[in-house]
Formats: sequence, C-alpha cells, structure tokens
Amino acid sequence: MSAPERPVVTRIAPSPTGSMHIGTARTALFNWLYARHTGGTYLLRIEDTDRERSTEANVQVILNGLRWLGLEPDAPPIFQAARADRHRQAVDDLLASGNAYKCWMTVEEVAAAREIARAEGRAIRSPWRDRDPAEAPDAPHVVRFKGPLDDETVVEDLVKGVVRFRNIDLDDLVLLRSDGAPTYNLAVVVDDHDMGITHVIRGDDHLNNTARQSLIYQALGWDLPVFAHLPMIHGEDGGKLSKRHGAQAVGEFEEMGYLPEALRNYLARLGWGHGDDELFSDDQAIAWFDVKDVVKAPARLDWNKLGHVNNHYLRQADDDRLATLVLEAMVRRGAEARADARARLTTVIPLVKEGAKTIKDLDDLCRFALANRPLVLDEKSASVLTEETQGRLGRLAAWLSEESDWSPEPLTARLRGFAQNEGVGLGKFGGALRAVLSGGAPAPDLASALTALGRTESLGRVEDALSRTK
Ligand code: GLU
Repeated sequence: MSAPERPVVTRIAPSPTGSMHIGTARTALFNWLYARHTGGTYLLRIEDTDRERSTEANVQVILNGLRWLGLEPDAPPIFQAARADRHRQAVDDLLASGNAYKCWMTVEEVAAAREIARAEGRAIRSPWRDRDPAEAPDAPHVVRFKGPLDDETVVEDLVKGVVRFRNIDLDDLVLLRSDGAPTYNLAVVVDDHDMGITHVIRGDDHLNNTARQSLIYQALGWDLPVFAHLPMIHGEDGGKLSKRHGAQAVGEFEEMGYLPEALRNYLARLGWGHGDDELFSDDQAIAWFDVKDVVKAPARLDWNKLGHVNNHYLRQADDDRLATLVLEAMVRRGAEARADARARLTTVIPLVKEGAKTIKDLDDLCRFALANRPLVLDEKSASVLTEETQGRLGRLAAWLSEESDWSPEPLTARLRGFAQNEGVGLGKFGGALRAVLSGGAPAPDLASALTALGRTESLGRVEDALSRTK
C-alpha cells in the first residue's frame, strides 16, 4: 500500500542540540493534530547523530518540552544514532544495486572541485562516480549516492504544491562519512521508512532535502511518504525569527508564564487557521485540522495576540494550578514566599487574573497580597497619608469592621455608605486606602483588594498606617 492509503503515522524529529525552538513546537503540534485528526499515530525520533552536541541534557530538554506542551508521542522515542548499523546496511544495499559508490577524493580535492563547480554554476561530481574502485588508494573513503544526471525530481508537497528539481543540480551527496558515520539525509529516509511514517510534516527549511531524500527512497525501492513543508515562523517585523524578537525557546515561553494550552491554541494559528476563530479547544483543532489547509506564506509571531490568547486560558484555569505556577514564578524571580502564600494566592488570584496576560503578570498582580506587615509604602503612597486622610482612614476602619460579609459586593456598598456618611466623594479616601493596602504595588479595585487580603490583614494594614508618623 502506498503511504496515503495506510493509516497515518506522523513524527517529530528534533535534533537535541540545545534549546527546543518554538518552530519545533509548532511542527510537533501539527504532526500531533494531524495524527489525532486521522486517528493515526504520532511518533518521536531524536536525531542525535551529532555526537558532540547531542547530550543527555539536550534530549531531556526535548522530552520535557513535549511533555509540558502536552504533545508527548504515542510510543517511546526512537534514537537515530542507535540505528547506525541499520543505516550502513541500507548503504550496502545501495552499493550493491549500483546506486551508490565509494569516493576517495581528499578534502583538498573536494574543496578544489567545489570551487570549479561553483564558478561553472553546476553541482560537483566526484571522478570516482565512474572510476574503477580497483584503482583506489589505500586511504579512507566516503560513500556517495549516485544520483541520476538527467530528468528532474518532482516533489508533490501538500503545502507547497509541485516543486521541481533538476537532477543535474543535485550533487552526489555523501551517505557515509569516512569514519563510517551515516549522514542526515540517509538516516532520515531509512528511519522514516522503518518507522512506517506516512506523512513527513516539517519546516520548509527541509524542502531542498526532500528532492535528495526522494531519490534515495526510489533507489531503495521504497514508497515515498507524503511530504508537507510548513512555512517558517517570522517575527512581527516579517524577518526570520531571531533573538532580537525575544524568546524563541519553548522553555522561555514556559518561564515567561504562558500556559501550554494557550500555546497550543496560538501555535495552531501560525500557518493554519479555521476561519477567523482565534480561540478554540484541542478537540476543535483536532476536528478541524487538515495539513492540506496549511498556508504557504510565513507566519508571524504576534505577542499581543499570544497575550490575548493566554489571558483567555488564564481566566479559565483552575486557581489552585495558577497558585502553584505563581509560587514557582516567585521563586524563579528571587522572591521569598511567606508560609501562608498559597492560601493567600488562592484568594487573590480569582480577583486579579482577568488583568493578567502571563503568569508573570499574575505574580505582579498578587504581590501586594503577600507583603508582610507593616508594609513598606512607596514614596507616592506615603505622600497620600496626611493628618486628614489618616483621620478618615481611622473612621473608615471602624466602619468596615462592622461588615460581617467580607466580600466584594457588601464591601463596595460599605465604601459607598462611608463616603455618604462623611459627605465626601470616594476620591477623598480611596487613594489613601489603596496606598495603605498595597503600599503602591499593583492592586485591583478597593473592594477586591480588601477581599483578597481578608478582614484581619486589611484592618491590620490600615492600623499600621495610622500609627505611622511622617
Ligand atoms: N532533525 C531535523 C531538524 O531538527 C528534522 C528533520 C526532519 O524533520 O526530517 O531540523
């Protein structure tokens, strides 16, 4: 059966060479969505053939990143480097069928040939393509693919459409290095074939490799998978995503306080979409997603939109979960969390989360509730405390302490009642109350701030302010 007729098997094939790029996360997501949409299987292959950069720690970065994103594969990962013998066996098959040849060009000869080829605007060819191996020197050799010189290779890409490559332009790529190490293009083909991959969905920086890989499939007598090359993710200015656009690593998005479900929703819209829908659940995305609907043009990472999406998921998220995330963020930011921090956070989070775009924002918005008494007032807050406002706050404290239902509505009514009683507007004491409750840190409206702090802490903070001398 050819690939399109078999049950769908997709894969994500990251190289564990450092952080996990947000583009890799998006590729993982699309492979996962397509597998889920079709009732297929989604696999992970760790492409760890670069032995120096492929550390255990870097493998963990990928596994953790996928776990955090909720995009874990359906089976344990395949490690590419462990399959080198199988790759070498495929090279033997290619040598036996005349689709590969041993090449004894030295490094210097390759460099010289490359220069000439470049000057003549053609791909380099090794003289060993047609030479008798019996003439070979007693020296190390590589194995090269013996590509066709005429015709063209046509890639029918689900996203890019028909892409043609003139075979004459494709040089005979190295399949095995002189130390016997298989190269990327060979290993990918053998692994994708052996893993039964039906759909290769990856970044369009790999489109040029696809022509070479297609030729290797054909030479090995294997069916080609379906290819789909995803557009790159660009920054807001349209340039390729780089450090100057801010975060790129999945771990950084986690640290900045984006929720994985928000990132899944947002990343799904980078290169794909369902009408104008901005917010949708995993189930909706799975029902709607088809890789043939991916667009060709590069997608742009729009931080405002991401913030908007994250805010939506923060508002929906369980407050206990958010409390854990805020505590983690606090520790990461070097703040010391008081013993009752969790209890306080679960009270304050529902009152402030509407204004937060990230966990970091949420942390900022909760800080006022976690400060220890007596509060340190910032300069502006301290300046609001005059004899007049202190007197009024004293009366207000007595008035508030009468309230038996310490929650936003009755407290709002009580603040209004106090203003009426004093014959002044709320503005005459609102600023002072806010100052002594928050010390100048961001805080929600007064009734919410009072509710968040609770009766004892609220009245305690007012009391502290009354005993302040200027
Ligand atoms: N290992 C390649 C990368 O990290 C991906 C190869 C592929 O998806 O075929 O870019």
